[in-house]
Amino acid sequence: MPTESTRVRFAPSPTGPLHIGSARTALFNWIFARATGGKFILRIEDTDFERSKEEYVKDITEGLSWLGLEWDKFYKQSERIEIYRKHLERLVQEDKAYPCFCTKEELEGERQAMLSQGLAPKYSGKCRGIPKDEAKHRIEAGEGYVIRFKTPEIEVSFKDLVRGTLRFDASLIGDFVIARDFNQPLYQFAVVVDDLDMKITHVIRGDDHISNTPKQILIAKAFGAEQLPYFAHIPMILNPDRSKMSKRFADTSLKEYIDKGYLSQAVVNFLALLGWHPQDDQEVMTVDEIIKKFDISRVQKGGAVFDSDKLNWFNSHYIAHLPTEEILRAAAGFVPENWKINAPMLESVRTRLSNLGKLREALEFYFALPDYEKELLRWKEMDDRRVWNGLESSLRLIEEIPAGLFKKDALEAKLTFAVEEKGKGEILWPLRVALSGKKNSPGPFEIMEALGKEETMRRVRLAMDKVQKQP
Ligand code: GLU
Repeated sequence: MPTESTRVRFAPSPTGPLHIGSARTALFNWIFARATGGKFILRIEDTDFERSKEEYVKDITEGLSWLGLEWDKFYKQSERIEIYRKHLERLVQEDKAYPCFCTKEELEGERQAMLSQGLAPKYSGKCRGIPKDEAKHRIEAGEGYVIRFKTPEIEVSFKDLVRGTLRFDASLIGDFVIARDFNQPLYQFAVVVDDLDMKITHVIRGDDHISNTPKQILIAKAFGAEQLPYFAHIPMILNPDRSKMSKRFADTSLKEYIDKGYLSQAVVNFLALLGWHPQDDQEVMTVDEIIKKFDISRVQKGGAVFDSDKLNWFNSHYIAHLPTEEILRAAAGFVPENWKINAPMLESVRTRLSNLGKLREALEFYFALPDYEKELLRWKEMDDRRVWNGLESSLRLIEEIPAGLFKKDALEAKLTFAVEEKGKGEILWPLRVALSGKKNSPGPFEIMEALGKEETMRRVRLAMDKVQKQP
């Protein structure tokens, strides 16, 4: 296989938001292109004018960009209608396709007749014999028609890179429709024109397309194509109960994951393992590692179960381990604009987050101290007096640390003496509550570093006032 010239395409129909399964198809294509030094083409298949929407094209391109899957070329089928028309005319001219004038009722009648004879229904080929001139006149006279492909009654076989050799009996297919008219090509046709025209070397797509492949091979052969693309049909994504992936078990559009605060690194890592895994079974991988290890022949045949817990695990992992700067950048969309989140704030909460959507709640206490009850300051049976004493000892020690050295290790070292003398609960519990106003929060030293000296002291004094003033 010549590696430097591989060309793959991701060919979504913009009839809905980018599905997480389609994102996986895009990812496999992109990885394959990058792994083989080839080109990744994005082709929007929008020949179904009624169902295709510009907003979905936007959702698709934004989703791919978010995942980091930059494309080398961009096409829209709606801008190529003229090309398809020429190719349709050519096939009709060469007697490899023909206009069919059968009405819906006629077709339904034929279908029923075949069914009643116990036959699998297929088009009878009735309009095959209409002379080209006659067909032309009927079209010009405004008669309704479609264009059918003259399906040869042969065996079609191809070697799928995932599933091995697959064989189909084309005599069962019948003459299928390839265009509504000369200006309205259907998927089956446009996809072949484009795959040949764009010199696609590998068609990597979901295995729900397997039954389309023999039809597409026949059309390509009708064009006299010498070199067909290789095909790799990748496994369906399944619910945990092995039914087809649905909303019942998990969000299905990529946008939902983006909006909930999943990191692209986590989603890419997770999707790469849906139906593939490297030889060494490594799970956490950077994109570069995935590209290095990717091997299409290791893609599995059987369905790939979408395990949300695993995705959450990856996300927590990346939130906890990526460089702080990267997380701060990704966090921007999830917290109010006026929050100035510093690195220690993020460090204090990042190991407990499964997604960035939870960041706001986790960090809120830094920006507005909750109005907590003074009882919360008490560790076990401590009374107000002991709470006050504990806070006061902390305050005196904290005060001695210069603002420039206000770091968690220095703070911890400074408070050690008081902690050893009076006990952890007695000192650290009231201090932590004074700083966070919450029952559960990061530890006091981390919070103090994040708040800085001035705000730390203000909060401790506030707590001392609370126990002193409140009856
Ligand atoms: N437009 C088709 C789809 O969205 C693409 C199929 C293909 O990759 O050939 O399913």
